[in-house]
Amino acid sequence: MTEALNPFKIAQRQLDKAAERLGLDQATHEFLRWPMREFSFTLPVKMDDGSTRVFHGFRVQYNTARGPAKGGLRWHPDETLDTVRALAAWMTWKTSVVDIPLGGGKGGIVCNPKELSETEKERLARAYIRAIASALGVTKDVPAPDVYTTPQIMAWMMDEYETIMREHHPGVITGKPVSIGGSKGRNDATARGGIYVTREAAKTYGIDLNGQTMAVQGFGNAGQFAALLGEELLGLKLVAASDSKGGVYNPKGIDAKALVDYKLQNGTLQGFPGAEPISNEDLLELDVMVLFPSALENVITEANASRIRARMICELANGPTTPEADEILFEKGVIVLPDFLANAGGVTVSYFEQVQNTYNFYWELKEVHWRLDEKMTRAFRSVYEMGSREKIHLREAAYLVSVARVAEACKLRGWV
Ligand code: NAD
Repeated sequence: MTEALNPFKIAQRQLDKAAERLGLDQATHEFLRWPMREFSFTLPVKMDDGSTRVFHGFRVQYNTARGPAKGGLRWHPDETLDTVRALAAWMTWKTSVVDIPLGGGKGGIVCNPKELSETEKERLARAYIRAIASALGVTKDVPAPDVYTTPQIMAWMMDEYETIMREHHPGVITGKPVSIGGSKGRNDATARGGIYVTREAAKTYGIDLNGQTMAVQGFGNAGQFAALLGEELLGLKLVAASDSKGGVYNPKGIDAKALVDYKLQNGTLQGFPGAEPISNEDLLELDVMVLFPSALENVITEANASRIRARMICELANGPTTPEADEILFEKGVIVLPDFLANAGGVTVSYFEQVQNTYNFYWELKEVHWRLDEKMTRAFRSVYEMGSREKIHLREAAYLVSVARVAEACKLRGWV
């Protein structure tokens, strides 16, 4: 990874810009540039063939001024401490921009879950919790799913934590299956939040989305639900989607539900009937109304930003756009709905899950939906108003809104 594409360096550069515009004092600025606490550990795990493999795990508690750390766990072969630090920083800004009483954290394991059996995944999940249990808890730090982690993995993790603590603690982790304390509506919350933000942005900029086109890069949890809900709630027509193995394209439209079913059955999008293959790179440059980057970081860079033809980009992935690309897109008039605003629906419903766990009383789906809509709409409005007032793009505006809130909490606590 080059220094320019190091996600943590990017997160720090984004913060530096906000700090300067907000006129943050030197100590507050420096404090917010770094995680408050971070853990790196080894995880020896017995494999099915009797051998032992040593995995590397991380947990970063970036900032807890506004509440306990909160953030997902990513299992990916390319995971690094700096990626986790960046994601933890973005979580801090995310919980702040949607104004929920939580801080930011993130964790991960360097591994390829596609090469692990279910029993190996379970042992790895439990090993992770044993390594970090003392630093977790509803008043300290609450993990959740991210790339290649699932409700089942969250269930094993909660069980391991409760086994160690010898009592129930459903709120220690979110994104659990509904039958053991998960929230209704958590499965599609990330995409749904992004769809609500897209709806508000379209309304604000006077764009009629009905019948217009969308492309989705990354067809996992966030991407699949973006396709389904984009169609259902906004009347968008899916024309292309991709995953790590490549994509499919049909300018006349692809039935989102049929594509999700195909992916679930075949584990790939390749060979989907009636569509032609398309590369991940070409998908990003399609002439569509809304592009949903829903995979990993650094896919829109200085190298391809000038060729992006989407009118709006709803960043469901974290960190898909580099700072250089941001400026190019702003000049071109592309409306970028920045990651920590656009994908905040996931953490918002995770927060609702924690609230329900604490009350031991569970909400109906419609309650989750209207509360999420209210949070996302309000967050978009505050970011948009900041952007219009300061004449800056929405990412910078989102930074100003959220960093100001975190800085204020640090000040009020007397930390800086
Ligand atoms: P997921 O594991 O469910 O899906 C990831 C998808 O990305 C898979 O379809 C995979 O094939 C695809 N992918 C991986 N590498 C790719 C590549 N190089 N090109 C194209 N596709 C590729 O993960 P997810 O939970 O949907 O997360 C996706 C993004 O959304 C991540 O950036 C994550 O941090 C972000 N996010 C997720 C949540 C959540 O609640 N799940 C919340 C906020 C943000």
